Amino acid sequence: VSRVIPVDTFDLVIFGGTGDLARRKILPGLYVRFLAGQIPEGARIVGAARSEFDDDGYRSFVSESIAEFVAKSKQDKTAISEFLKCIHYVPIDALGKGGWPDLAKLMRLDTIRAFYLSVGPRLFGPLAERLHAHGIANDKSRIVVEKPFGRDLKSACALNAVLAESFEEHQIYRIDHYLGKETVQNLMAVRFGNILFEPLWNSQYVDHIQITVAETVGVGGRGGYYDKSGAMRDMVQNHMMQLLCLIAMEPPSTFEPDAVRDEKLKVIRALDPVESHEIVRGQYLEGENGASYQIEAENPDSHAESFIALRTHISNWRWNGTPIYLRTGKRLRARVSEIAVVFKDPPHSIFGPQEGRRGNVLVIRLQPDEGMNLRVTIKEPGPGGMRLIEVPLDMSFAEALGNDGDDIPDAYERLIMDVIRGNQTLFMRGDEVEAAWAWTDPIIAAWEDRHDKPKPYDPGSSGPEDSLMLLHRDGRRWREIR
Ligand code: NAD
Repeated sequence: VSRVIPVDTFDLVIFGGTGDLARRKILPGLYVRFLAGQIPEGARIVGAARSEFDDDGYRSFVSESIAEFVAKSKQDKTAISEFLKCIHYVPIDALGKGGWPDLAKLMRLDTIRAFYLSVGPRLFGPLAERLHAHGIANDKSRIVVEKPFGRDLKSACALNAVLAESFEEHQIYRIDHYLGKETVQNLMAVRFGNILFEPLWNSQYVDHIQITVAETVGVGGRGGYYDKSGAMRDMVQNHMMQLLCLIAMEPPSTFEPDAVRDEKLKVIRALDPVESHEIVRGQYLEGENGASYQIEAENPDSHAESFIALRTHISNWRWNGTPIYLRTGKRLRARVSEIAVVFKDPPHSIFGPQEGRRGNVLVIRLQPDEGMNLRVTIKEPGPGGMRLIEVPLDMSFAEALGNDGDDIPDAYERLIMDVIRGNQTLFMRGDEVEAAWAWTDPIIAAWEDRHDKPKPYDPGSSGPEDSLMLLHRDGRRWREIR
């Protein structure tokens, strides 16, 4: 069971501390880390937003968020009341003058200072500037920013520039919560902590790689926001790109943040442009469980995609000739996020032709049920001759940890602790984000130029038929979404 190493004491200010993300993820995550003994009692967590709370009012807000979003088994009355002693609140308008001196007074000398900007990107600049103007941020401070980090290369460069006016790159933590998932870190452990996989990790042995992020929910109340972005911007440019980097990068020489991020950057820069015939965009229709995308997005003419599948390729020595297929969408058959590394067949079958054999696949599952599973071929048990079957060598993390998965820290818990520790390995560097947009921009521009309309698909399906064809044409098939 996990070993907990306490962090040094800190002052953490959450701008947007009354928002949805703070309520659902950041505050409950901090409490769980406190319960685990990782947060020292003297730490200060300061909510900062426009609402007129005092400390006690905000403590009630925090305690409600714990009651709602922390597993009942972890709601310990004594621990909650101890945790609430760490909580403070300062009303601040990011665009105004009030509140800043009060915040400055709360900050202690010689204590780690972190500022979590859980607010829209238009406030990054004003907040960064005021933190400096009021002497609240110093050379040792850290700043955390949420997605979306821009909507194209130009806006991402502008955000990087605005942050760079007040903070050095080593102080900036761009969150991609996919990187905080236990399985994603395990992907690196499996790749670089074993001798078994790395020799086979190249185009000579890997037939192709599939990454799927399927959701059953639609855009719901986020329709207005989502409609301006679509699946490419919302999922592919950031989360899926990050997964692709970790799967495909060269072994870094150390696990130091910049060593890892240098290798990730090389992957993004080696990605081929994607041609129009290598992309399928889709939009869900009305179904039993909900309205169509266009109704939910309140835009009857919307051409935004709620589904995208594409084929890409990394032009380097290791991956030349190995296609990489990415697929993500809403209102699909099941909720599943996984990476599948599909290996080639053995060069010769001594057992003669084997109908329906599908070879080795390493599946890295992010949700639900984080774990890994390697499909291997064995002989079918019994006297029926040499018939081969495939069985999974399964490694479910919940089982490996000997419990029901409760000890797997949520991605946000892990990432916030990394900020306090000053470890940037699992955060995106500015140049990575820009390179990812540089790859994404022309793809989007091309479909906009063509006035491409997304293909309709039924809710509860695997997306538009055309996405199946994307692989069929190459003699391959998607793994089932289930
Ligand atoms: P939200 O609208 O629920 O909350 C926004 C917060 O910002 C509130 O606390 C509000 O008081 C504060 N705020 C707004 N304007 C302000 C101002 N001028 N001065 C001071 N405070 C101000 O938003 P959210 O869902 O919590 O999202 C916050 C950020 O995190 C956004 O950038 C969002 O894109 C990102 N994000 C959210 C989620 C999520 O699940 N909610 C997931 C990933 C990323």
